[in-house]
Amino acid sequence: MYRPAGVKTSGAFPIPDTMKAWVLGGPGEVALRDKPTPVPRKAEVLVRIDAVAICATDLEIIYSGPPASIEGGLPFNKNFTPGHEYMGTVVALGPGVDEFAIGQRVTVEIHAGCGQCKRCREGMYTACLNYGLNYGEQDKGHRANGFTTDGGFCEYQVNNINTLIAISDEMSDAEATLVVTAGTAMYGLTELGGLVAGESVVVMGPGPIGLLGVAVAKSLGAQPVILTGTRDNRLKIGRELGADHVINVTKENAVEAVRRLTGGLGADYVLECSGAAGAVNDAAHMLNRGGKICLAAFPHEQVPVDVAHIVRNNIYLFGIRGEGRSATHRAEAFMAQKRFDATKIHTHTFPLEDLPTAIRYAKDRVDDAIKVVVKPQRASGARTLAAE
Ligand SMILES: [Zn+2]
Ligand SMILES: [Zn+2]
Repeated sequence: MYRPAGVKTSGAFPIPDTMKAWVLGGPGEVALRDKPTPVPRKAEVLVRIDAVAICATDLEIIYSGPPASIEGGLPFNKNFTPGHEYMGTVVALGPGVDEFAIGQRVTVEIHAGCGQCKRCREGMYTACLNYGLNYGEQDKGHRANGFTTDGGFCEYQVNNINTLIAISDEMSDAEATLVVTAGTAMYGLTELGGLVAGESVVVMGPGPIGLLGVAVAKSLGAQPVILTGTRDNRLKIGRELGADHVINVTKENAVEAVRRLTGGLGADYVLECSGAAGAVNDAAHMLNRGGKICLAAFPHEQVPVDVAHIVRNNIYLFGIRGEGRSATHRAEAFMAQKRFDATKIHTHTFPLEDLPTAIRYAKDRVDDAIKVVVKPQRASGARTLAAE
């Protein structure tokens, strides 16, 4: 039975010594294995994972490796468990932890950072200067679930308390997995200055972050919110999440359409979530003078950029990584207040045991999949309250 020294557990949530965990073999290969149930240390809890969403970045990691960095290198054949968009129930407390209680439902941020570098101290823990240093003689304790430490495609995982967000029983497991996605959009808008009420915001690319970017921008009072993309079904969901206008870029010129919709001036902000090669130039030409671009996605190849246009027009360019500055807490607050329905992007659920099927749905967009969620199957035991 699981009873590590100094760790608080409860009879209401019996914890096995070993758990089922998916591990990454070579590129594209995942296998279900038994692993020891991890043990929380100081300032950590053990989370029983109740649901995990699959992210495009998980697919990048599983098939190509980066941006995961395990022991300073590629994540293949290192007994590494990917998965970072998860939620669950606190079932054990590390030494000294009283900030959370056993039985409490939580969703988790990805990055704990090292907590001691300049960027972590500034709240930019997703840009930790000790990224990936959590091994050997360089152990700075950096943690990023499913990137530099084991993630959520398993039954239990440890998390630093700074990465936990308490959620109410009214929020379903699947919705809670989307908090970090909405939090990434919130972080982008935070870095752009955050004060977007009454300002025009263009969101490029109706993937999960883009769609929730529309929802967050609208919740922050942006007007108008314009979404660009190539697929009408996703643009329709964008409308349901708050887009005032949608532009299908296969049918009309997005730059011209944005300028027309903003009285010829151009927009104040662009949240770029498409990763398309021409996106930076399109964004720069959609903006008015002094406008700001946040880049939340990236192309695989290097792209030429019209620097002269950016400089002449005093355009600001921001790159963001993940979900810094506690943005997930603000995103969760909007979701708890039902300012938008993030579950509109949740399309499929599979048992954790069917992860390869779930990955295929997410990767090939089978049946118009957007967010695919996997859930460990459990005999009805302690607390599985939230209705799906
Ligand atoms: Zn993600
Ligand atoms: Zn750091």
